Amino acid sequence: MTFESLGLSDKILEAVTKKGYTTPSPIQEKAIPVILERKDVLASAQTGTGKTAGFTLPLLQILNQGQTLRNRPVRALILTPTRELAAQVYENVREYSQFTDLKSTVIFGGVNAGPQIKDLKRGVDILVATPGRLLDLINQKVMTLDKVEIMVLDEADRMLDMGFSRDINRIIQLLPTRRQNLLFSATFSKEIKKLANGLLNHPVTVEA
Ligand code: AMP
Repeated sequence: MTFESLGLSDKILEAVTKKGYTTPSPIQEKAIPVILERKDVLASAQTGTGKTAGFTLPLLQILNQGQTLRNRPVRALILTPTRELAAQVYENVREYSQFTDLKSTVIFGGVNAGPQIKDLKRGVDILVATPGRLLDLINQKVMTLDKVEIMVLDEADRMLDMGFSRDINRIIQLLPTRRQNLLFSATFSKEIKKLANGLLNHPVTVEA
């Protein structure tokens, strides 16, 4: 199996080659074609399986094929439980999008919001965020989520463990009804299944 055969385009493949990846990991092999078909995905994947590229590569390709909107509102939202994971996912997004014109940034709590607000006001296609800071900036009218086409919940089980359930539900309420949803979780508790039931639309289940 090659990355080409998964349906990824040249600009995305260029970044994959630059990273030195030769073969897709099992989760990438299963998730990438399904995401490119615009289906909702329920993925069980631990850290270290290559899950980040598994959702980021197809997400970038979908956005890159679409229209850049005037004022660059957020078109893809990636939610993560912690600032460390947010920073790490953002680094991946930056690397994988380097041969496209897509813009991205990351926001998380515990630091001055000033530079984050400045970045958002300049316009980004992809936003990596932790739930609390995202709701903060939405409440401050810095940004909206009404042009989001793809929503990713990364490490959803950790998000629930950390008490983000209400925040996540609030965020989901602010998204357009027509969108693609990707939920990645290492474990599948009753709570995760409930969240998945409320969020996902006829999801395809994939396992690492
Ligand atoms: P993740 O599970 O997303 O945290 O990724 C774990 C590590 O695997 C990261 O350091 C990635 O850069 C690396 N990685 C992801 N996909 C591949 C691949 N197809 N081939 C080799 N390394 C990869």
